[in-house]
Amino acid sequence: MSEKTILVWFRNDLRIHDNEILLEATRKADKVLPVYCFDPYYFTKNAAGEPKTGSFRARFLIESVANLRSNLRSMGSDLIVRIGNPAEIIPQLAEEYQVSEVYHHREVAYEETAISEQVETALWKVKLNLKHFIGHTLYHKEDLPFPIKDIPDSFSTFKKKVERDSNVRPCVDTPEHISSPAINDAGELPTLQQLGLDEPADDPRATDQFTGGETTALCRLQQYFANTDFLISPKAKTTVYTDNSSKLSAWLSVGCISMRQVYWEVIKHEQASNTHHGDILILELLWRDYFRFMFKKHGQKFYKAEALSHDTLNGPAEDEAFDTWKTGTTGIPFIDASMHKLNATGYINNYSRQMVALYLVRNLKVNWTKGAAYFEQTLIDYSPASNWGNWAFIAGMTHDPKDNRYFNFNKAAEELETNSDFVNTWLPVVNTSGDNLVTSDPI
Ligand SMILES: Cc1cc2nc3c(=O)[nH]c(=O)nc-3n(C[C@H](O)[C@H](O)[C@H](O)COP(=O)(O)OP(=O)(O)OC[C@H]3O[C@@H](n4cnc5c(N)ncnc54)[C@H](O)[C@@H]3O)c2cc1C
Repeated sequence: MSEKTILVWFRNDLRIHDNEILLEATRKADKVLPVYCFDPYYFTKNAAGEPKTGSFRARFLIESVANLRSNLRSMGSDLIVRIGNPAEIIPQLAEEYQVSEVYHHREVAYEETAISEQVETALWKVKLNLKHFIGHTLYHKEDLPFPIKDIPDSFSTFKKKVERDSNVRPCVDTPEHISSPAINDAGELPTLQQLGLDEPADDPRATDQFTGGETTALCRLQQYFANTDFLISPKAKTTVYTDNSSKLSAWLSVGCISMRQVYWEVIKHEQASNTHHGDILILELLWRDYFRFMFKKHGQKFYKAEALSHDTLNGPAEDEAFDTWKTGTTGIPFIDASMHKLNATGYINNYSRQMVALYLVRNLKVNWTKGAAYFEQTLIDYSPASNWGNWAFIAGMTHDPKDNRYFNFNKAAEELETNSDFVNTWLPVVNTSGDNLVTSDPI
């Protein structure tokens, strides 16, 4: 009997731990063929003529793919890397290696699902099946206490019901060894220049280092718990709240680490310290799930019809206002310092994101979709549902009835103090009860 080979198409799941497609493939097939495609589509120009993917994220992605390859090699396998359209490359490799099935993780956003559909159609032509797995969320879609069409649009209702009626599944096992067919040409990783980008300059003022890959993601997770901030209760009666956010988003976005891995590590540390100090991190993970499930539920109708034409300036006045925002020259110190940091590093924390987004939409009256596209280009952790979802939420363009208390913009951007032109860790003053806690995150 001939050997069965399954092609594992890696996308935003660049890890060997808690990766169901990799585990399933090793269980169902004799040989596994791991493949990653750098799709030129993501390196084209956006409507503003700027790269869809900026150089910080592209570098992070290359590092993550390199680390995945090295981890797969240490398990006896390899990673085939190609630059090109997956709808052409995946069927070609499938034929060349005579695979019997292709596995991948299902995405939710429009562009990502369109690519999956093209690959699926191309595979059908060679009589092969693309098997979809669900693996990007904290709560598995099938464990939700409601069908997708009935997911509450209100975050607070979603949170309450999910936490009450659903459980997070345990992480899946990591294969000990992966057998692969003899690979003739594994392919070179692209350089940034090949992707049409320049090497980003690392700003010496940046305190956070983002190096792509599962290995650094796992270290980063442990550092988070080693940081004494974890031991400070976010609700403590304190006058100052430090930014103890995890800085895991870049790794979560390309799947170097899974939401479940983070969740179960939080639970482990909470049990060991007999506290609930990780609850705030779990709350943030839930926001990520919420936006993903909203995309799943509403598809392209996630934004209300008027989303593209709400009250904004138009023409040169809008362009000018947008330009001052992008370049950090609005004259509002906190906004400008946040934008300087975003441009110089690809990362600002959630509070800065909320403030600059609000300022663009409310004060400068620029269409929110321009801000979202700029974030898509510049963020090192860009993730379609999280980015477009948060922007639409801030612009008031989603289906959420706004009955929740989790977004609490209790200060106008102009009132925020900063004596630096580059925001690193911002320490907002909170009231002593902690009730109106201004966190780096929606509360
Ligand atoms: C306008 C705007 C655009 C955003 N765009 C993105 C994006 O493209 N990619 C992205 O990962 N996050 C995005 N966020 C959410 C959030 O700002 C970042 O996830 C967070 O700042 C990352 O830092 P952290 O890892 O330290 O977060 P932590 O506070 O440590 O939170 C842990 C994780 O929870 C998730 N998370 C936290 N807050 C949110 C949120 N509001 N919505 C969705 N997920 C959340 C992230 O995966 C994050 O890594 C955006 C927020 C705003 C307001």
